[in-house]
Amino acid sequence: MSARRPIVAGNWKMNGDRAAARALATAVEKSSSGIATVDLVICPPAVHLTEVEGQLREAAGTEGRPQRVALGGQNAWDKPAGAFTGEVSPQMLADSGCRYVILGHSERRTLCGETDAVVNAKLKAALAAGLTPIVCVGETLTEREAGRTDEVVSGQVRGSLAGLGADDVGRLVIAYEPVWAIGTGRVATPDQAQAVHALIRGLLGSLAGAGTAAKVRIQYGGSVKPDNAADLAAQPDIDGALVGGASLDAAGFLAIARAFAG
Ligand code: PEP
Repeated sequence: MSARRPIVAGNWKMNGDRAAARALATAVEKSSSGIATVDLVICPPAVHLTEVEGQLREAAGTEGRPQRVALGGQNAWDKPAGAFTGEVSPQMLADSGCRYVILGHSERRTLCGETDAVVNAKLKAALAAGLTPIVCVGETLTEREAGRTDEVVSGQVRGSLAGLGADDVGRLVIAYEPVWAIGTGRVATPDQAQAVHALIRGLLGSLAGAGTAAKVRIQYGGSVKPDNAADLAAQPDIDGALVGGASLDAAGFLAIARAFAG
């Protein structure tokens, strides 16, 4: 079990219409009682953020309690404003109620050609906007089978975090997401995941000092489901989950969060 406060985030990806987004957000917020020891985040499509923000506030308000579920974006541009057609700035995300933003997800690295340098620029812009970046790293199956996992993940962490001071490193959440486990139903074993999380924490220690590294939360992502979450949560360096498919079902998402609540 991790010594840090766990964080479980749902990446809804490009799924759901407005009505579905409203219903899912309301169900997650309303059923989140009893998970007070875990930070809960949902990351809807950008076009639904404002609406979901209102739903979360209303759902908590009808129960007369503070909102438990925070909002995150799935991506952001690296500038606050300007001629960047189709993009969303981190300031816009913050203005829409986001506290978090996922950066460098493998789908963006693969489908949109995002390099570590791009992720690094976005990460700095997100920090400047006051957001908490959830920085994704992870190896492909070919890289793992070639014995290159440590080298690839270390390179992504170094490249994505280049130039950051210890204070900024301390503001990040890292998500280790082996590409071969995302959306495949093939989850990393707890030992496989723990080994890479320990590697990342060691690297953070050399970049920002052991004190900072001990504070940074490292999520595992890749086919996390209610029935495998507890074994992952039992590992000392796994501080939560970044959940894709299973986050589209409120009960499943919250069951995963409960596994991290201990
Ligand atoms: C993800 O997209 O970040 C993810 C982990 O997806 P899934 O849980 O569906 O594997």
